[in-house]
Amino acid sequence: MPPILQADVYVSSRLPLAIKRAGEPSLFSPISCTLIHGSTDAALVDTPISISQTEDLAAWIKATAPRKSLRYVYITHGHGDHCFGIPTLRAHWPDLVVVATAGTVAHMREQLGPAILEGTWLTLFPNGQIAAVDDLQRELSLVQTLTGSPKPVSFTLEDHKLHAIEVGHTDTHDTTVLHVPSLRLVVAGDAVYGDVHQYFGEANTPAKRAEWLRALDTIEALDAQTVVAGHKRAGTVDGLFNLRKTRQYILDFEDAVAKTKDWKELAGEMQRIYPNRINPHAILRGAAAAFPEGGVVGAKV
Ligand SMILES: [Zn+2]
Repeated sequence: MPPILQADVYVSSRLPLAIKRAGEPSLFSPISCTLIHGSTDAALVDTPISISQTEDLAAWIKATAPRKSLRYVYITHGHGDHCFGIPTLRAHWPDLVVVATAGTVAHMREQLGPAILEGTWLTLFPNGQIAAVDDLQRELSLVQTLTGSPKPVSFTLEDHKLHAIEVGHTDTHDTTVLHVPSLRLVVAGDAVYGDVHQYFGEANTPAKRAEWLRALDTIEALDAQTVVAGHKRAGTVDGLFNLRKTRQYILDFEDAVAKTKDWKELAGEMQRIYPNRINPHAILRGAAAAFPEGGVVGAKV
């Protein structure tokens, strides 16, 4: 019998954005990082964005799994808000191995190009809040890419298989979830959202949103008991309702696109339907992307 695995979820602070959205100051969504651990070893799924957030995470890992060694960090998808903390973790665990699918690695590379790194991430979080680009590039070159067949591709923690499941376009392209059958756990990255407004800035067509719905079907078919959303409110139980609520939000967005005439009405309608979700500013980019002819919402990010 392999050692019994257990899991804990950390929810990051919300970083203030250096720009205003719709004329108002705003905070980025909270980010979840899931620690899966056995008797001596641990694997983390996703990191936060900034150095200080990741230092807080490192302290939490040491308090949560003392005397265990962080061997792996699995990255669910390439967006910087799920991987920019890697260099900060490396300083604490020099031997850790970062694992990701080929699609995620390609996407991470794209995020480090000047258009997205400077145009988005360093605009939102300037002045050394994020790890240096050289350190991020070095980490990219060290990632262990999960390849081969049969699918799903996997890595092993204390004799337990952890499966990378490719689910296609959700809130961005080439996303994955991590399935841990022995825990009946899915760590869903941004395929599943908790009580946080969903990002449709890239899921900007009915076809891409339909792909996101199919991804939710794929996750549901894994028959997990626990589904951890990539952005969630701290304290929310990681239940299957997260899948259902993510699906309903997409369907409601699709209806709202059909019955509104511009991005302002669309954003207003989503905030009317979901007054309690965190980060209403997240919907602005999705609304602008759904009505690209209507102009930008006051900022390019
Ligand atoms: Zn995200």
